[in-house]
Amino acid sequence: MEKGTYRVLLYYKYVPVADPETFAAEHLKACKEIGLKGRILVGTEGINGTCSGTIEQTDAYMNLLKQDERFADMVIKIDEADGHAFKKMHVRARQEIVNLSLEEDINPNELTGKRLSPEEWFKQMQEEDTVIIDARNDYEFDLGHFRGAVRPDIENFRDLPQWMRDNKEQFEGKKILTYCTGGIRCEKFSGWLVREGYEDVSQLHGGIATYGKDSVAQGQLWDGQMYVFDERIAVPINQVEQVIVGRDHFDGTPCERYVNCANPECNAKILSSEENEHLYMRSCSDECRTHPRNRYFVEHNMTVEEYDERLEAIARHKNATPAL
Ligand SMILES: [Zn+2]
Repeated sequence: MEKGTYRVLLYYKYVPVADPETFAAEHLKACKEIGLKGRILVGTEGINGTCSGTIEQTDAYMNLLKQDERFADMVIKIDEADGHAFKKMHVRARQEIVNLSLEEDINPNELTGKRLSPEEWFKQMQEEDTVIIDARNDYEFDLGHFRGAVRPDIENFRDLPQWMRDNKEQFEGKKILTYCTGGIRCEKFSGWLVREGYEDVSQLHGGIATYGKDSVAQGQLWDGQMYVFDERIAVPINQVEQVIVGRDHFDGTPCERYVNCANPECNAKILSSEENEHLYMRSCSDECRTHPRNRYFVEHNMTVEEYDERLEAIARHKNATPAL
């Protein structure tokens, strides 16, 4: 397969959908007939999707969306790819198309931050009294982020409002810039910031995905790679300079390779070289490594002797590795 024979689409729109359950069932059927794969969420507040297919399949799908007047003007971001980026096709009806779980919801069509083009964002980022908030999760930030951005210590988007309230002294009186992958999270989050009383709130319109393709900004001041929720995991953004910011969970060396912790009750995304993945039995902590449900031990048919030897090798490696 050649690069460019497939595409990955990313899109969202906040627009009323009267009956999300019926829509989801019919949309799933249509997507399967086209041969598309991906994940689409639909709610009364709108649609949020990412999917992959051949050029013909994605063209057919974009035509399908355009025929629906609710989605006719929706911006669809297109990446070239060399194969499907998903294994299955899901369309699900949800309460929210991004899960922020606010007591009082935000409708971004009524309340949201200023929308900055990539060019405007590039300028604003470098101005004084500006604070850049990464509106994504910690593991997304750790693979790549805008230079100087604040990293909220959260594993789920819905925890962001509380984190902001707990850390508000950092942001008071500042111009606030927020960004996320495709822009959908910031539409709500920036609206929430305005409602919280922040006076100068802007968001990166179209998200990092759009910024990386802009001919003026060229992805500048982005370090590392962009985390994406498909099989590609990491996507390059900065066209001018490449910096690796990801660090191996076990020894702190530069790393852009994600694995999931082998303890199914943890499942944390950790950056790890292949070598350290096996040495540390793909476990983020001693607790996860010795957890009775740890999958690594079974996956690799390890004997008790091999397991004990590995624990000794880990102890030796830890002693030889400077504290992170
Ligand atoms: Zn773990």
